[in-house]
Amino acid sequence: MRGAPSTGNGDGASDRPPTELTPLIGGSAPPASPPGAGAVAPLLSPSYAAASPSSSPFSPFNTAKIRSNSENEELPATSSPRAGNLATMLSHHDEEDDAPAVDAAESDEEDRDSQQSQYAYFASPAKVLGSACVKGDYFQAQSAVEMTVSKATAAAARLHALDDDGDEQKATDREVARETRRQVADSVFRLLTVHEARHQMNALHLAVLYDHPTVVAYLISVARKYFPRDEEEAAAFQQNAEKKRHIHIHRQSEDHMHHVHSNGNGSCVGHGEEHQGQEHGSDAGSSVGSEAPHYPDGSCGTLQEFLDSRCGDSKHQATALMLCTSVACAAALVDEGATLDDINSSGMTALHYAASTGNAAFVSLLVHRGADVNQTDSRGATALHWAVFEGFQYTAMLLVGYGADQSICDSEKQTPLMIASALGDAFLAKQLVVEGAPANAKDKHGRTALDIARQGAHFDTASAVKAGASDRLVAWASRNGASTLFFFGMVGSTATLSLIFAVPCLPPQNPSDTTRYQAMGLVFLAYTCVLYVYVCLKDPGYVPRSTRPAYELLADESNAIPCPTCVTRKPLRSKHCSACRRCVHRFDHHCPWINNCVGLGNHRSFLFFLVTLSSFCLVIGALSLSILLGHLPLYPVGFRASSNASDAGNVAATVPWPWRWLQPPEWAQVGVTTSEPSTLLLQGIHAVLVLCAVVFGLPTTMLLALQLRNVSRNLTTNEVFNKDKYPYLKTPLDEFYNPFDRGCLRNFIEVCRGEIPAEDEDEGDVDEVASSALQEHDVDNISR
Ligand SMILES: [Zn+2]
Ligand SMILES: [Zn+2]
Repeated sequence: MRGAPSTGNGDGASDRPPTELTPLIGGSAPPASPPGAGAVAPLLSPSYAAASPSSSPFSPFNTAKIRSNSENEELPATSSPRAGNLATMLSHHDEEDDAPAVDAAESDEEDRDSQQSQYAYFASPAKVLGSACVKGDYFQAQSAVEMTVSKATAAAARLHALDDDGDEQKATDREVARETRRQVADSVFRLLTVHEARHQMNALHLAVLYDHPTVVAYLISVARKYFPRDEEEAAAFQQNAEKKRHIHIHRQSEDHMHHVHSNGNGSCVGHGEEHQGQEHGSDAGSSVGSEAPHYPDGSCGTLQEFLDSRCGDSKHQATALMLCTSVACAAALVDEGATLDDINSSGMTALHYAASTGNAAFVSLLVHRGADVNQTDSRGATALHWAVFEGFQYTAMLLVGYGADQSICDSEKQTPLMIASALGDAFLAKQLVVEGAPANAKDKHGRTALDIARQGAHFDTASAVKAGASDRLVAWASRNGASTLFFFGMVGSTATLSLIFAVPCLPPQNPSDTTRYQAMGLVFLAYTCVLYVYVCLKDPGYVPRSTRPAYELLADESNAIPCPTCVTRKPLRSKHCSACRRCVHRFDHHCPWINNCVGLGNHRSFLFFLVTLSSFCLVIGALSLSILLGHLPLYPVGFRASSNASDAGNVAATVPWPWRWLQPPEWAQVGVTTSEPSTLLLQGIHAVLVLCAVVFGLPTTMLLALQLRNVSRNLTTNEVFNKDKYPYLKTPLDEFYNPFDRGCLRNFIEVCRGEIPAEDEDEGDVDEVASSALQEHDVDNISR
């Protein structure tokens, strides 16, 4: 499934049709961009495709391929730079093809080695460790480390013996112990950080890339045990080593060590780069540099330096954290203190890698441990840019939910929305717009996302962008009180007009009855308004946000995929509402008229409200209609009498005090004398009332009918309209099946009870059906 966090092989840029990454040549396709904007400008900055980790041999995507080869060949066989364009990558492939003989011989040799590697003690420790990290063999890794430790201890003991013989200054036991520790640390550090020749990865990188959490944890524990704990101890080790070297310099027959001073955390990388080529050029036989000649004696780094060590050549420089493919490995590294915001040579952080590989759980882990969601790489792209570019919808929405800023532009001034438009990702484009992407932002060619979608002939995406924008406008207006204002304005004015002009015409036309009717009308009006306010404010049953982070929820396979935007476990029948930005229990629909969702919590009151409002409209419409049709008089009797008396005081006397202000004004009463204009005016008022009642009442009544029908079947409006999307509404034969129907009466009772199930984090309250969180995430059904 596209966008699913766990899958995604082959979803990278290389599989995409090339048209999306190349300029549109102005042929048959008419340029839709504004004049002067350059109709042949590329839709997307090509730098993404060039630098995408998934096109890189270091990408976790490539592990499957590599792993399938790993029986024959222990180490990855490609070494093209990760930030090259297609041409350079091809040229690298050519280079490799040029020297097949060496490779074949080498791999044969390695083949034999790996077959013999069950007798691991005969191979060099670094080689054994490298193969253990690729295969995930914990015990082999352990044996390699132990072998190194014992060798180093033995060597240290030998040296001390020599010291005792030759030098007059006797070392104390404590000094001996410290020196032994230093030498062991030095050997282990060299063992763990020696780069294999092709990808220049150390043991940690290999274990992480091939996703072996136990080996990663073991390597970290070894590092913690043997390496100097801090810079201070490392410096002491260094000094000790210098001293030793001066003492023993005459004893060393061949000194090919380089006296390069360690310069902080970059030291391993620097040396690796400098000397890797030469050493292995001359020493091509062992692809795993077992003696680590490029590390000067005593340059033992700290645990921190080990965790943040880089791999790859100068064009890559990824840390182990960036190569993670699983949360287990990443958590082990992060918990031990691996730096979160380290960048590689193109400015990408681990979060960029996680986003561009669609690893939602990894993204979540990094964000929860404090990675900056909006960090940009050297091309100005955020993690969201990368997730959108690689087409990982779930990861993109997760980043949006974590507060990724959608208005950040890359160096081409493209927002994530523009990338989605260029790629024709209609679903993601709409979601981004609904979640607040700036739809009017322009790229450096002056095109908006809509222009880009049209230029790329992605018309479904263009309409999705427009639909998203209108949804957002409706939600915005509704949120800012437009619907409330409209409701009170309409209901208030129609009710007032009806009370003044229609109600007094009801028989028997005497003032006290009229007053009683008007009082009833006002009570009814007040009831409707109170109910409206209640439905607006009532909690529709928002699913509480989960206390557990998304990566834990994603790891929990028994649960449905959590909602990416509000990071919550989605109970059965719930759905995310993008207007409310929350997930709602038994979501029915979002109603902009009440600026609220209709869900489990307020379904009953919503039904009551609909009944009240539709009968309100029915009464008003029926009254005015019967007046217009002549079944009721146009003028109330009482007013006619007072008018005949032509006495203002009498008028006041005939109408009781509280309703006196409701009297029709003078011109309406003058109508008694059959003035033509006033009759027309009164008829006009009634016509308007009928019109309002129809315009307001007809949709309400229809909605009520629809609701009653759905409630009687125990289905939500959302389920009725999107029944194809929900696996729980289908039989195994893909036919519609309603598992909630318990008969009409019971269905009504169940809906009206509306009890929100208590959230229990540990065990599901309802049967969790693995429905796609994405499918439920759309906003198609906003009630009219
Ligand atoms: Zn949600
Ligand atoms: Zn809503």
